[in-house]
Amino acid sequence: MRLILLGPPGAGKGTQATRLVEKYGIPQLSTGDMLRAAVAAGTPIGLKAKAVMESGALVSDDIVAGIIDERLDQPDAKKGFILDGFPRTLAQAAALDRMLARKGLKIDAAIELKADAEKLVARIVNRAAEAKAAGRAVRKDDDPEVFKTRLAAYLRDTAAVTPHYAPKGAQRLVDGMASIAAVAGAIDAIVAPLE
Ligand code: AMP
Repeated sequence: MRLILLGPPGAGKGTQATRLVEKYGIPQLSTGDMLRAAVAAGTPIGLKAKAVMESGALVSDDIVAGIIDERLDQPDAKKGFILDGFPRTLAQAAALDRMLARKGLKIDAAIELKADAEKLVARIVNRAAEAKAAGRAVRKDDDPEVFKTRLAAYLRDTAAVTPHYAPKGAQRLVDGMASIAAVAGAIDAIVAPLE
């Protein structure tokens, strides 16, 4: 089963991806996580990506497409995967189409968590405050100002990505403002028949 999870930052993609990993035993391929690891390790890609990520803007299409192309060839991705945070632009979606065609694979569902931008800002302010209160590290890009830049990047570049999957019959929409359990139920209703 090959899934794409889409939706604005803070919509709950990460939470749902983690749950799907456990339930279906397929890996979550998060370009955000991979880039953060590259930054932490100080690799050439990490050095290029660091400042861009801290500003809330998007890393170049070539870099993230290259990372995903390699990752899809790892043994654990053979039985399926959940793409989380990729593709984020139409150019990345086109690059993904080409690499999947080359590998003889196809996407079963591109699931978008629809969410209200205003409410997401409130949600992220809350998430940062909770993490701080609990003594956990707050992601630098969860700062409200940076978050607004991430949201603007989403609206400008990423909102058009889910419709790219409509002609392939793979586009699915879920209400991301519902409770975590309700979102999980809606996603499972889409995913279960694909198994
Ligand atoms: P995320 O954890 O998915 O919110 O990603 C954190 C940051 O990593 C984003 O704000 C971007 O700077 C960068 N990033 C992650 N995935 C991509 C992508 N597919 N294209 C461009 N930049 C990305």
